[in-house]
Amino acid sequence: MSSTRRRVGVLALQGDFREHLAALRACEVEGVPIRLAADLEAVDALILPGGESTTMAHLMEPTLKQSIQQRAAAGMPVLGTCAGMILMAREIADGRPDQEPLKLMDIGVRRNAYGRQIDSFEADVASPAIGGSAPAVFIRAPQLTQHSPDVEELARHGDQIVAIKQGNRLALAFHPELTPDRRWHQYFLSLNGETR
Ligand code: GLN
Repeated sequence: MSSTRRRVGVLALQGDFREHLAALRACEVEGVPIRLAADLEAVDALILPGGESTTMAHLMEPTLKQSIQQRAAAGMPVLGTCAGMILMAREIADGRPDQEPLKLMDIGVRRNAYGRQIDSFEADVASPAIGGSAPAVFIRAPQLTQHSPDVEELARHGDQIVAIKQGNRLALAFHPELTPDRRWHQYFLSLNGETR
């Protein structure tokens, strides 16, 4: 099993998918925009970007949702950032009633949980996963409300867990794609996937 991934998909329906594609280029990995279920066949891993989770959930074709769930169940590594983390959750608080998450991780999240006063901020976030700390951009970020025991905490900001891992699925409440530091993407690329 090689840790060099050839192609990484980025869900490209809405949000900051271009920034993730640029981050992958900086890591010398080919990024592939994913809009339809068939696009997934060309990739070994998937990134769900930041943006607006309600819009993305709405724009995703049912066949694409199913293919993502099937590939993830077969072991495809998935990274979700901010809205992407919300899409990966099992349960969403303060979501829209018709907002069905992909349920890729055993976590619950609350949307826009930092409130209006401090809804966007930048902070240094340290994690052993990146061997130190990096500036993290939080924009109307979600907070974790619950997680199963096999969900691993990778980073905290204050009393909040802001980076988690379950198997080869990684969710970040912030946006590593909006800073020039590529260590979170590199960490994701180091996670092993299914053998195909
Ligand atoms: N609040 C957004 C949502 O609910 C997430 C914001 C973001 O991705 N920066 O989808």
